[in-house]
Amino acid sequence: MKKTKELNKMGNQLFSTRVVHNKLNQHTALNSKATPIYQTSSFTFRDLEHLESYYAGETPYLYTRENNPNTDELGQAVANLEGAEAGAAASSGISAIMAGILSVAQAGDHVVTAEDIYGGTHQLITKQLLSFGIEYTMVSFADPGAVRDAIKPNTKLLYTESITNPFLRVEDIDELVKIAREHQIKTMVDNTFATPYLLQPYTQGVDLVAHSATKYIGGHSDVTSGIIAGPEDLIAKAKQKIIGLGTNLSPFEAWLTQRGSKTLALRMKQQSENARHVAEVLNADDAVEKVYYPEGVSERGNGAIVTIELAKQVDYEAFFKSLGWIKLAPTLAGVETTVSYPIRTSHRALTEEEREKLGITDYTIRLSIGIEEAEDIAEQFQQAIRSSIK
Ligand code: PLP
Repeated sequence: MKKTKELNKMGNQLFSTRVVHNKLNQHTALNSKATPIYQTSSFTFRDLEHLESYYAGETPYLYTRENNPNTDELGQAVANLEGAEAGAAASSGISAIMAGILSVAQAGDHVVTAEDIYGGTHQLITKQLLSFGIEYTMVSFADPGAVRDAIKPNTKLLYTESITNPFLRVEDIDELVKIAREHQIKTMVDNTFATPYLLQPYTQGVDLVAHSATKYIGGHSDVTSGIIAGPEDLIAKAKQKIIGLGTNLSPFEAWLTQRGSKTLALRMKQQSENARHVAEVLNADDAVEKVYYPEGVSERGNGAIVTIELAKQVDYEAFFKSLGWIKLAPTLAGVETTVSYPIRTSHRALTEEEREKLGITDYTIRLSIGIEEAEDIAEQFQQAIRSSIK
């Protein structure tokens, strides 16, 4: 388990202080308290000499697809929270993951990936990257022997999530790093569910950390964005992929994400406490067959996602209609509690066999717990379950 002291150790300030004072932009005019939004496609130059100074690295900005104060600020801010040297923002979590993978693998290379990853990432690896000529093997990362066996001479990367989706398996990062180092290959971890508030995989030796910043980093369900963080050299390569493939984040969305990130520590604290309460209440409910809620993730808490398997006496269709103010939404991590239905959304594209292997059924429901009163949230779920018993 990550100790709070260790999580706080980086830098001189405690995490909650750093997250608020993560304003890095040196280019703000007029001493504005907040970073202005540089909603511009391009920057202008006095003359050719000034233009050349950009290519000499003396002038920071040329064209927003390449660089922009807001996207740069966001990338570096999240890298700081992860304890990484550098970070780059991208148009979505998926494009950040893609840039990360392409920074270490190319046509003819091979990636070993955990089988219980987010459905969209599963599609990225099994369909899109395969068409780029990058091969993959998907295995259970719960079994280190299977990971070792899957490594081939052309393997460049081990890919997983720090807390997996939807069953919230907590990855053994130290073991993963050990295996990768034995074989001199890179590791990449999607830290979306844990956030750097709970886990900082980079400080444990992971090479690249990815985020769907659409989720907890942004926190308000009003933006789609992604981050890839790591060492300078790999992030420079990832950045070239973002620029070359045109998957850059817009300045406004970078600004929104960065604004949302300032309350990350507060939100995660409250949401994790609420989730623990909801998990306990639902665990004691006979109409809930199983509650998946991790233990021992970090001294700060265990995250804000709870996955449940409703008992067969519950009409799951009626359950969704009885949730009142809790909305069905194919996302997670907003300040409002929502539910998602993996079989029809995040894991819809998987084959029936793949879903069965993972254990995703009609009765599997993923709860994203918000910042409301814990008692209200638990009561609303219990009321929905009670009114849906067949
Ligand atoms: N990683 C995880 C764990 C996710 O849950 C998601 C989206 O739900 C993604 C990556 C993809 O992020 P985005 O939708 O921002 O591309």
